[in-house]
Amino acid sequence: MQKLSGRCLCEGIAYEISGELGPIFNCHCSKCRRWHGAAFRTRATINAQQFRWTRGEELLSRYHSSEFVVKHFCSVCGSNLISTYDNDPEKIGVPLGGLDQAPHNAPEGHIYVGSKSPWFTITDDLPQHDTWPGSHAKVRETR
Ligand SMILES: [Zn+2]
Ligand SMILES: [Zn+2]
Repeated sequence: MQKLSGRCLCEGIAYEISGELGPIFNCHCSKCRRWHGAAFRTRATINAQQFRWTRGEELLSRYHSSEFVVKHFCSVCGSNLISTYDNDPEKIGVPLGGLDQAPHNAPEGHIYVGSKSPWFTITDDLPQHDTWPGSHAKVRETR
């Protein structure tokens, strides 16, 4: 089974993910852009049981970015870690930037391209979606 690990910039917080990641998307929504200070957030959805903190959970800070979405980040170095969903506690959103290894799957599309940064041009051929692709939509998103 795939085992992945990740950590924050100061390395005070570390985590482990077991098993395959869900679909990986580059999210261009304005909240992800602002949270990461970047053109987009590359993220996957996993099941909560696949994830565990292995170090430094007491260093976490949390921020409700919308009614149901909680952003977890390192209170020491500010690294953006996971998103959890009050209305869907079985799911976690993880950014790939903190991983120590390459997962088996790769980004398969761009989402929330409707709010993409005007200064960033998508130059690959991956599918582009204005919001969340498919039906089981919005709750998964980090808005
Ligand atoms: Zn840190
Ligand atoms: Zn987003």
